[in-house]
Amino acid sequence: MAKIIVTGGAGFIGSAVARHLIENTDADVVVVDKLTYAANLANLDPVSDSERFKLVKADICDAAAMDDLMKSERPTHIMHLAAESHVDRSITGPSDFITTNVVGTYTLLEMARQYWDGLDEAGKEDFRFLHVSTDEVYGSLGEEGLFHETTPYDPSSPYSASKASSDHLAKAWFRTYGLPVVISNCSNNYGPYHFPEKLIPLVILNALEGKTLPVYGTGSNIRDWLYVDDHAKALWLIINKGELGETYNVGGRNERTNLEVVQTICDELDAVRPADKPRRELIEFVADRPGHDQRYAIDATKLETELGWKAEENFDSGLKKTVRWYIDNPQWWEPLRKSVYSGERLGLQKPSQDKQNSEEKV
Ligand code: NAD
Repeated sequence: MAKIIVTGGAGFIGSAVARHLIENTDADVVVVDKLTYAANLANLDPVSDSERFKLVKADICDAAAMDDLMKSERPTHIMHLAAESHVDRSITGPSDFITTNVVGTYTLLEMARQYWDGLDEAGKEDFRFLHVSTDEVYGSLGEEGLFHETTPYDPSSPYSASKASSDHLAKAWFRTYGLPVVISNCSNNYGPYHFPEKLIPLVILNALEGKTLPVYGTGSNIRDWLYVDDHAKALWLIINKGELGETYNVGGRNERTNLEVVQTICDELDAVRPADKPRRELIEFVADRPGHDQRYAIDATKLETELGWKAEENFDSGLKKTVRWYIDNPQWWEPLRKSVYSGERLGLQKPSQDKQNSEEKV
């Protein structure tokens, strides 16, 4: 019987994975989450009553807690999604990114290795550790080309550098210790339950409330968009069928400029929830993000041909579903907008939060 630990399972993608596992497999699921600002237990409401579901509040940097977790839960699989995930926050305060993404991943890998070492041969054979990462580790593309699994790493932001470090650690634990690790690198996710600091939910909610819609620079930066439920299915496939030590890129083949994304949201909202004036008039161009990568685009051929995955949503169908979900679920996002994050600009290059903190201590 499979028992899956999902780290970061109260966040955006981790909760989609937990919901997918409870709703579509027989596996037991243990969500392990520190419950930072980005977590939301309401993301797990659809599955939290299941007898196969359990939540453990813990920090992946806490070696003793991770050791206890392995011994008490005895997982067959670990799907590692816990991370600090917002590029803009990594620019103003990189410290948490290094701690959780690098030291936390190291701690989890090491505690998983010690647990795995003690399993019998069959248990060792069956065990899998999936490390979930981002296409941002590959840096920025020009007008042509795609990221392949063999593209050299060239991260630009503190976030992507911390994720690149964690990918190297995961690979090293496979090569050095034989821990059964598989790695995935995906493009930008979107969909329901997305914390409204990220572009798509921020724009949907600002547009619904008639607020300005900030677009960084000229809006020409290109991202490849992946519907979160397609990603959750891909991760379950990769951990079960992926070759050990290998990397699989996950992307939706949906390249859009940021301006196109914002305009599409405006048009969709105008169609389903008309306002006094076209919402495109709310668009405001603001100072660009420092170190803003120009273009990301993923080649998901390996995942599609070797493991048989295919995205079910294209950008238009996925965005329609997402806009509808935010319109139908104000009880989910209103408390977040009031008390956790109300939409102010993040990530401008002010004196770093870390520097300020250390100066305050002095
Ligand atoms: P998220 O910020 O929504 O959720 C992260 C979760 O991790 C939160 O629930 C948080 O409480 C938890 N967490 C943070 N620090 C922790 C710690 N020290 N110990 C235990 N739990 C901790 O992030 P997301 O968007 O769901 O991303 C999940 C993973 O996918 C991350 O590893 C991220 O780097 C990766 N990823 C995300 C995207 C995207 O578009 N969202 C794209 C590529 C890769």
